[in-house]
Amino acid sequence: MLSLLSRTKLHIPARLWVELTTTLHSKTEGVHESGAFLLGRINGCSRHVVEIVYYDAIDSNAYKSGVVVIHASSFGALWAHCRETEFQVVADVHVHVGSARQSRADKEHPMIAQKRHLALILPDFAAPPVEAERIGLYEYRGCHQWRNLGHGRIARHLIIGI
Ligand SMILES: [Zn+2]
Repeated sequence: MLSLLSRTKLHIPARLWVELTTTLHSKTEGVHESGAFLLGRINGCSRHVVEIVYYDAIDSNAYKSGVVVIHASSFGALWAHCRETEFQVVADVHVHVGSARQSRADKEHPMIAQKRHLALILPDFAAPPVEAERIGLYEYRGCHQWRNLGHGRIARHLIIGI
């Protein structure tokens, strides 16, 4: 059925992609997860990344437990920044130590609990080279349900370009 095919696309300029993967990898210090909010504009099914806000920039304790945790009180700074820039959160991204499959916590606690929100997961602490078909991309459907747009389907949904 055609309606089952998602037309969702996440566009990120190559320059930002390189910065994102390099920075997330270095922020892990080889021992803990790291992550970021991807801010930009949403145009129908297309989401365009313009800016990266790393989790530790809004919550200095975000990486303390080993897995990424943003405390509720830290979201105020994010929303204020979005109001100021008129950007929206188009996706969130975090790294895993191994494969980029959602953990139970990832499924049950979306960073942004809005339908169609995208959660990107990078494998191997984003150590280079990050292989496209090992990247996880999940679209939130509500009620802790997600649609998998990553791994074998990633080329259709994650567009790294200018
Ligand atoms: Zn995770």
